[in-house]
Amino acid sequence: MTPSPYPHLLQPLDLGHVTLRNRVLMGSMHTGLEDRAADFPKLAAYFAERARGEVGLIVTGGIAPNLVGWLKPFSGKLSMRWELRRHRLVTDAVHAEGGVICMQILHAGRYAYHPFQVAPSPIKAPINPFTPRALSRRGIEAQIRAFVRAAQLAREAGYDGVEIMGSEGYLINQFLAPRTNHRTDEWGGALENRQRFALEVVRRTRAAVGRDFILIFRLSMLELVEGGSSWEEIVDTARKLEAAGVSILNTGIGWHEARVPTIATSVPRAAFAGVTAKLKPHVSIPLVAVNRINMPEVAEQVLASGQADMVSMARPLLADPEWVVKARTGRADEINTCIACNQACLDHVFVNRKASCLVNPRACSETELVYRPTPAPKRIAVVGAGPAGLAAATVAAQRGHRVTLFEASERIGGQFNLARRIPGKEEFNETLRYFGRQIERTGVDLRLGVRATAGDLMEFDEIVLATGIRPRTPAIEGIDHPKVCSYIDVLTGARRVGRRVALIGAGGIGFDVAEFLVHEGPSPSLEPSRWMQEWGVDPAFEAPGGLAPPRPEPPAREVWLLQRSPGRPGARLGKTTGWIHRAALRMKRVHMHGGVEYLRIDDAGLHVRIEGEPRLLDVDDVVVCAGQEPLRELAEPLQAAGRTPHLIGGADVAAELDAKRAIAQGSRLAASL
Ligand code: FAD
Ligand code: NAP
Ligand code: SF4
Repeated sequence: MTPSPYPHLLQPLDLGHVTLRNRVLMGSMHTGLEDRAADFPKLAAYFAERARGEVGLIVTGGIAPNLVGWLKPFSGKLSMRWELRRHRLVTDAVHAEGGVICMQILHAGRYAYHPFQVAPSPIKAPINPFTPRALSRRGIEAQIRAFVRAAQLAREAGYDGVEIMGSEGYLINQFLAPRTNHRTDEWGGALENRQRFALEVVRRTRAAVGRDFILIFRLSMLELVEGGSSWEEIVDTARKLEAAGVSILNTGIGWHEARVPTIATSVPRAAFAGVTAKLKPHVSIPLVAVNRINMPEVAEQVLASGQADMVSMARPLLADPEWVVKARTGRADEINTCIACNQACLDHVFVNRKASCLVNPRACSETELVYRPTPAPKRIAVVGAGPAGLAAATVAAQRGHRVTLFEASERIGGQFNLARRIPGKEEFNETLRYFGRQIERTGVDLRLGVRATAGDLMEFDEIVLATGIRPRTPAIEGIDHPKVCSYIDVLTGARRVGRRVALIGAGGIGFDVAEFLVHEGPSPSLEPSRWMQEWGVDPAFEAPGGLAPPRPEPPAREVWLLQRSPGRPGARLGKTTGWIHRAALRMKRVHMHGGVEYLRIDDAGLHVRIEGEPRLLDVDDVVVCAGQEPLRELAEPLQAAGRTPHLIGGADVAAELDAKRAIAQGSRLAASL
């Protein structure tokens, strides 16, 4: 037998009454399917697919123990017997696949998005319009009893355990941290008093559910906010939680209101595993490392170096339900890697849409988007190997069609070949590796360096045009001046720009090009210590809240990022990542202006009017990032020849195009051919 490539990752974990098959914990993640009884069959299918993929221990999205603890009105809750039946669908489906599943109990406290929220003290969260009501002593008792009852009901519903959410700034964390607990009674003040709520919840839950039930506690180990707990306090709380009956301690990094990114793609891989490692000598129960662990070699490294006993991954298992089985069978190169973009998961959940995944549109649609083998294989031509064409070609070939993929350039990826050059977007390489491997596995006939013509396509039964976009050239006086170039020239290295650069257009690409221009040398996302220094994380994880004064490196250039529409640039970027892009550019002193009128470009530079005031930006270069238009030059000749091609991705609609739409559209089309 060949030795396992990841011996630590795949080692079983004996918890006494149950043995987990490996060290992978699927971290809690809200999908939106938890909120409606009618969606539980879909939720069951979603978890069952991950259990079939051999995940060691699954944790559900947060379920509130009562109404005041709801994240938002009508979100998932378990406090009544009649709510049990829907949960049994989930536990039965997971157990049928040999999986183990715990329900997360999450009381939102002051993060609840409704006016009935409660907290230790009436202190409004900066990310929530509602001010919480301070709990009375009786109110506190009622919350503890609600936790215990939810755990008992979870046991009745067939869960193998519960995870008590004590981090990320939710209710229990609000009791623990001086930032949010200003009480002067026995529930606030001294550490012992601030710990009381967490410890009472754990002690009484353990007493109620018995020993043969997993009790995970998610402890905030690095809060990344002012007024957070100190390291000594965290160690003390961890020890007491172990004594109170916790079976596994999971790591929590950062409150939701923290202004340090913790899971975005620019966060270095496993950047925070050192926090878990620091707690290791102080407790004897298994510890779980979290955040930006997305590939088996990273997970194995964390475990082999003794930093933790398990690794938690949430989004990587959304991206690929077969992550574990692929690792176990030596097929890590087939993993569809989470690129930490948040675009289809967290950004959806924040606007009350069902979660999915940019690289895997089947996520949370397991029962609807099914790639069935085709009974009637066809000859399919796909033109363009950007995200849309790659998804269409590989899904169609996986279903048994004979697919030829034409790509004009010498490599697959389309615009992802530009995206991956942006500092902090190195993960985009993984998507290209994944699709490259899928092309080999599914037998797609890839024709690189071939700009397809209509004539090349006539012999095929179906023609898919995924030819992408062409950059828009705005009608500005002097747009053909030698100072002007396109973002493509800059990112491909065809054009070396000077020290002072203006960008016309502040959409996603404008922001990315600005990020590219202010950096020089290796990306800080590949060097955790440099990244922590930039964002103000104490590398020793000692200071209260784990914060240190940010020390950004000086920008490589002076950059102006401009948009015509009024308001601050970047307002339309992703809900959960836009603030990071804006903060990153502020750190590099990028001048960001909305309400800009472009007057002309000449030898002196870019003449603009900003909020009515004429100004000359005496820049060396003007880079145009003014959006895109569809490139579909093949559509007309094909139609003239009597063929009806399918248009996907940018070739279909360029406005507001992103890879999420491109991949979903390509996959859905291929599932229907
Ligand atoms: P494209 O990626 O443009 O691919 C089209 C392909 O067709 C090209 O490879 C082209 O060579 C080929 N082609 C054209 N004509 C022919 C022909 N006649 N014969 C053969 N081949 C042909 N999106 C996100 O969702 N998140 C991000 O964070 C993100 N970041 C980005 C950063 C940058 C710097 C850029 C430039 C884009 C970014 N995008 C991002 C956008 C994303 O890359 C695009 O939405 C996506 O690539 C569109 O996919 P597509 O397949 O429609 O087109
Ligand atoms: P975009 O987001 O549509 O932004 C285009 C920019 O150009 C805007 O600032 C626009 O706003 C400006 N513009 C449009 N027409 C103009 C004109 N005629 N003259 C001057 N300015 C003009 O497009 P993009 O930046 O090219 O990005 C393309 C797609 O890639 C986007 O849809 C985006 O979702 C995706 N993407 C996503 C990310 C991400 O991190 N999620 C990153 C990169 C790209 P004004 O008109 O107000 O100036
Ligand atoms: Fe990961 Fe992006 Fe998919 Fe979310 S949408 S799971 S962040 S790849």
